[in-house]
Amino acid sequence: MAETIFSKIIRREIPADIVFEDEQCLAFRDINPQAPTHILVIPKENLEGLQAAEPRHEQLLGHLLLIAAQLAQQEGITATGYRCAINAGAEGGQTVYHLHLHLLGGRQLDWPPG
Ligand code: AMP
Repeated sequence: MAETIFSKIIRREIPADIVFEDEQCLAFRDINPQAPTHILVIPKENLEGLQAAEPRHEQLLGHLLLIAAQLAQQEGITATGYRCAINAGAEGGQTVYHLHLHLLGGRQLDWPPG
């Protein structure tokens, strides 16, 4: 699959406000935040999106969610609440084709989303 801008962020070729990193994933603040907390959690592996996930990604997908919950704690939004969202494909609103989990919080979020 083709690389995206997120691969360049992983390799530190373009700047990002990185808030967490481990051997499997990277988390950084969204450049166009939709809430006071808007962090993207991405795998370092070049995976196009949830639509391309395979059984071998089971542990990685769980890891991304647990890191999001840990970051929510760090951001102080656990008690008030937050949302984790993964946009998959065109009608899901995906614009960057490297799997990413949006962590959104710090304000009342609407449901259903647009
Ligand atoms: P999606 O629409 O789910 O594919 O989300 C892509 C997200 O990546 C959007 O919320 C963008 O604002 C965000 N984004 C795009 N480029 C960058 C960047 N260089 N640094 C941080 N966030 C970015």
